[in-house]
Amino acid sequence: MRSDHRLDGFRDEAALFIAQAVASGDACPSYGAILPPDLHMKAMHWQRFCFDNGWAGVHWPSECGGMGLTPEHNVVWHEECATAEVSPYLNLQGLVLAGEAIMRSGTEDQRERFLRSTLRNDILWCQLFSEPGAGSDLAGLQSSAILDGDHFVLNGQKVWSSNAQLAQFGILMARTDFEQPKHKGITFFLLDMTLDGVEVRPIKQMTGEREFCEVFFSDVIVPSDAVLGDVNGGWGVAMAVLQDERGGAGASGVISLRRRLEDMIRDTGDINPVQIDGLIEILNRGRALQTLMERRGDDSRIAPIAKLMNSELGYDEAQLDASLRGAHSMLTNPSIQALLYSPGMRIAGGSSEIQRNIIGERILGLPREPQVTSD
Ligand SMILES: Cc1cc2nc3c(=O)[nH]c(=O)nc-3n(C[C@H](O)[C@H](O)[C@H](O)COP(=O)(O)OP(=O)(O)OC[C@H]3O[C@@H](n4cnc5c(N)ncnc54)[C@H](O)[C@@H]3O)c2cc1C
Repeated sequence: MRSDHRLDGFRDEAALFIAQAVASGDACPSYGAILPPDLHMKAMHWQRFCFDNGWAGVHWPSECGGMGLTPEHNVVWHEECATAEVSPYLNLQGLVLAGEAIMRSGTEDQRERFLRSTLRNDILWCQLFSEPGAGSDLAGLQSSAILDGDHFVLNGQKVWSSNAQLAQFGILMARTDFEQPKHKGITFFLLDMTLDGVEVRPIKQMTGEREFCEVFFSDVIVPSDAVLGDVNGGWGVAMAVLQDERGGAGASGVISLRRRLEDMIRDTGDINPVQIDGLIEILNRGRALQTLMERRGDDSRIAPIAKLMNSELGYDEAQLDASLRGAHSMLTNPSIQALLYSPGMRIAGGSSEIQRNIIGERILGLPREPQVTSD
């Protein structure tokens, strides 16, 4: 963990606030980027508790209820939450993706309407990007929102939308112009999930949870003030959102890695030299990721690297954990949850293969892979 005397006072205050909240039972255990439905109520309470006590939105402006501090203070908040194994926010989709997008691209009315209520958790958000035929190739999305007078008519289907069954609003990408090249005819919306014609169907995952959903739109009347940014300018808004999603990965998640590895050693008993090598490798990769995140500054190239390192680290850690504990423990040990969940992390937010493509083409300058479409 970084030591910076400008932030030390804030770090102490944050640690104290969190410790008191843990002791009083107000804090919610950490769960990663996506809110698990069984912790929904606890997490809602924790977000509201932070807001009511002036500890929500560390780097958000004070006029929308935030603390008005710097992104570095926010990193400290995340580190202290990770150390205490407490969730730093309600969910990534609202407190990072929607919130930062509205701060960047929202009108005054949208900032007024959504920022404070998101921090207070009056609004829980989901992300409505992926479709059955458009995941890695997001620009191929086919959900349509056609302008009709003063509103848009939305039709189509989204899939893998985490927390959609709990959400009041969703950040949505939909095609508003089918004549334009595919990246250019897309608009970004702040969609009210309670509108007529929005239907959410949870999907059961192999963990047994129903954390993500299919979402269907049938002639949904979407007011034009739901557009974030420009009509047909949604691709740029969405790319900044993906940057936030990928770049945030791993900022603090590796802080508790050492403790998890110690748990593995304690629970396993005899460990052979090959397994020791495996533990050391995971620890070193965790440290490398943490160091990368601490030095990242404003460098946007870090996002795909951090996302790739974090997803692969989580997957390999879960595999190692399972191999150390042995077959029987897979039936009983809570770490089976991590084992079943970790493959999804190599896909969510953009798959590892896609991050490798981005790193190869945009950072290393390798030749682009052949395009199958004309745009
Ligand atoms: C746990 C979880 C939560 C999610 N939450 C959300 C959410 O809240 N909102 C949302 O909108 N989406 C969400 N997603 C969806 C996620 O963003 C997509 O699954 C992801 O972008 C991959 O898209 P796809 O599933 O369509 O796979 P595809 O794009 O069909 O890819 C299938 C396979 O082909 C590989 N592949 C594809 N193209 C290439 C290429 N050019 N080069 C090399 N390999 C390639 C991929 O890496 C993958 O292995 C979530 C996914 C998961 C697993």
